[in-house]
Amino acid sequence: MEKKQFQAESKRLLEMMINSIYTQKEIFLRELISNSSDAIDKLYYRALTDDAISFEQDQYAIHITADKEKRTLTLIDTGIGMTKEELENNLGTIAKSGSLAFKKTNEIKDGHDIIGQFGVGFYSAFMVADMVTVNSKSVDADTAYKWQSDGSDGYTIEETVKDTPGTEITLHIKENTEDESFDEFLEDYRLKAIVKKYSDFIRFPIKMDVSTFKPKEGGEEGETEEVQEIQTINSMVPIWRKNKSELTKEDYEQFYQDKRYGFDKPLEHIHLSVDGAVRYNSILFIPENTPFDFYSKEYEKGLELYANGVLIMEKCADLLPDFFSFVKGMVDSEDLSLNISREMLQHDRQLKLIAKNIQSKIKSQLQTLLKNQREAYETFYQSFGRQLKFGVYNDYGANKKVLEDLLLFHSSTEKGLVSLSEYVSRMKEDQSYIYYATGESVERIEKLPQTEIVADKGYEILYFTEDVDEFAIKMLQSYQEKEFQSVSSADLKMDEDDTEESEEEKDANKALFETMKSVLSGKVKDVRLSKRLKTHPVFLTAEGEVTIEMEKVLQAMPD
Ligand code: ADP
Ligand code: MG
Repeated sequence: MEKKQFQAESKRLLEMMINSIYTQKEIFLRELISNSSDAIDKLYYRALTDDAISFEQDQYAIHITADKEKRTLTLIDTGIGMTKEELENNLGTIAKSGSLAFKKTNEIKDGHDIIGQFGVGFYSAFMVADMVTVNSKSVDADTAYKWQSDGSDGYTIEETVKDTPGTEITLHIKENTEDESFDEFLEDYRLKAIVKKYSDFIRFPIKMDVSTFKPKEGGEEGETEEVQEIQTINSMVPIWRKNKSELTKEDYEQFYQDKRYGFDKPLEHIHLSVDGAVRYNSILFIPENTPFDFYSKEYEKGLELYANGVLIMEKCADLLPDFFSFVKGMVDSEDLSLNISREMLQHDRQLKLIAKNIQSKIKSQLQTLLKNQREAYETFYQSFGRQLKFGVYNDYGANKKVLEDLLLFHSSTEKGLVSLSEYVSRMKEDQSYIYYATGESVERIEKLPQTEIVADKGYEILYFTEDVDEFAIKMLQSYQEKEFQSVSSADLKMDEDDTEESEEEKDANKALFETMKSVLSGKVKDVRLSKRLKTHPVFLTAEGEVTIEMEKVLQAMPD
């Protein structure tokens, strides 16, 4: 028997994991199952090219057994197995990718986060076990080896007997301490729940010996006996890997509910199977209702992220732009590694590609909805239109192209909401601007004196009733090369020769205007004659870029 030391780095990782907070410990099972699944995959690929190796589908499984008396949890896989060298190289050092995440993390606190969110590999077993034994036989070797470690300072390795290739990992579950109980990792129902949560879509069956009560054979009525039974825990084929044509609307709704993406029914779903520069499957939902905390700081955007069927992050924010933060759903990619840290994800090229792709799919889906199902789109817009407008306003209009076609506003000529393209298509031949008026409500805007002359010309006016509207439009500046103009703007000119006042008119009314100005002193800057009024005697306007309505919003904002 040989005894070897762990690397210093491995020790630090172990310490960190052992001290990780309780709820994160459960992910050890996800890690071990993923390794087993990888090992079966490897064998499968070998069998494709190597005649000496046969792959019989029904032999490939991951088997989990808990023994409460011995306090052991055992995972057996029929995968490719490990040679002596592989046991030493793979289990004696931290997995390359996993270690990188840790090197960058100096604080234990952040370390916790990584343990919860990302794969940390085989070592995570030591979060719950005080002794780990790995018996493995490689398909390439005649001898099997036993690797064993208590996690603290090293491991032993020796020959052992194992008939078939594959790996058998036995964890001796820690004794309970005053603060922590480890018993749950020996309970069938808990283990099942953990498998379901993280590993439901592993492609191979995950089987468990579970004890159930069955009516006793030959016994009295109602008499039961405890029997051992092998159950397959995982559902194996995730809905997102299924063919769209096999799935019904109800299937998607069921998935939305199972995943607790929302309490409502989704308005629309998007199912993507992309096989290009980056490969991924994704199911996205546009909810019908605004989540109660949507417009608050508590709301967290993000999509579930899976690496090849294994959940690695519950809310990956990098996958969604803020203006689409209402979208729910998941992404599964074969091109992502299980051991990827949050920092690394942010810079991951694949992830960026996926995010970009998803953004354009959501946009085109919304556009299609707008075109073909106006009513549904307006329902959506009621819930999330405000977020789109914020999207235009933020980032200085950088998202203009993505969002401008998705906006809707009230209008002076149409009953319902109108899009900018609809507005432009109705513009009069001599009309150079897209006109808008701002106010608290449609009713109030309709009474604004300054709308009259524009409406009289036969021009449509967009009615801005939300505080964000005008700010967003200022960022857009124009739509299809037509500039926006407020009907209240001091520079509004309906005709070329429509100068506001001639010199004579100015002189004629000088005394009157001076008097008005002094009466309204401190309230107005100037009083002028206007040709823009028809049936109203007066209107208020502001000079420059910021309109009166915008000023009101700015003043109401907390500093
Ligand atoms: P990762 O899975 O990211 O490589 P791990 O720490 O989880 O990191 O595992 C380290 C390595 O140990 C794996 O890459 C694999 O080569 C080997 N390994 C772990 N578990 C098994 C297993 N059940 N069967 C075969 N090889 C395994
Ligand atoms: Mg692993």
